[in-house]
Amino acid sequence: MKKIAFILLISCSFIISTSAQSTRPWQGKKCAVVITYDDAYDQHLDNAIPVLDSLGLKATFYITAFSTSMQNRMNEWKKLPLKGHELGNHTLNHPCVGGPGRDWVKPEYDLSKYTVQRMLDETRMTNLFLRALDGKTRRTFAYTCGDMKIGDSSFIEPMKKDFVAARAVRNQMHKINEIDLYNVDCYMVNGETGPQLIEWAKKAMETNSLLVVLFHGVNGGNSLNVSLEAHSQFLHFLKKNEKDIWIAPMITVADYIKKYQSNQIKTTKR
Ligand SMILES: [Zn+2]
Repeated sequence: MKKIAFILLISCSFIISTSAQSTRPWQGKKCAVVITYDDAYDQHLDNAIPVLDSLGLKATFYITAFSTSMQNRMNEWKKLPLKGHELGNHTLNHPCVGGPGRDWVKPEYDLSKYTVQRMLDETRMTNLFLRALDGKTRRTFAYTCGDMKIGDSSFIEPMKKDFVAARAVRNQMHKINEIDLYNVDCYMVNGETGPQLIEWAKKAMETNSLLVVLFHGVNGGNSLNVSLEAHSQFLHFLKKNEKDIWIAPMITVADYIKKYQSNQIKTTKR
């Protein structure tokens, strides 16, 4: 009788731990949220950082190295990693594929006119620049305008050893074992209200997914903007729900996903 009770106890605890793993796979939390800011605008330093720091939330800033803000305020950008934020690579000059509907692309930075080697050189130069700012050798990348190819050639393949992960621009969220680390999807903010942004986080909690949010302007800087109020409401919601939401920079979350997925593969092979 004692033996049966023992076996029952063991199998119950196994079921509990397995189900806990599937509903709280993110460091024991329901979902993960990565907050990202692209292109290095003054408004990130002036409007986003104060809110993040007051709440103790850590974010990823995808830096275009030769941006105006970096040229003018490099010393302030340099302080971000000291507070736990990540400086990610968003190229040297922000090249994008030009053409119809892409009038803002300058001919000299039209990605379709680049060679893969030029893209590799400029991106690696940006890694070197960022290393001079924060001393780090491991980094994540964000595709400019979501462009992943030059003609038919993918440039991330030869760059995989330079990056832990790469963020794309596609409005989707996925469970931990479904994520492609070199094509991490994200929700791009374009005028959403606080409650609308909060809905995204609630969906991530319900589906045990990774939500990556992409901000450009924060009360200015870019026409893809968010108001101060909506930005603040969203970050406060994340903070309030920290027991269920794991909030961390991309590189931390990417490392965790990599480890999780390789363990999963080992388990499946056995
Ligand atoms: Zn960009």
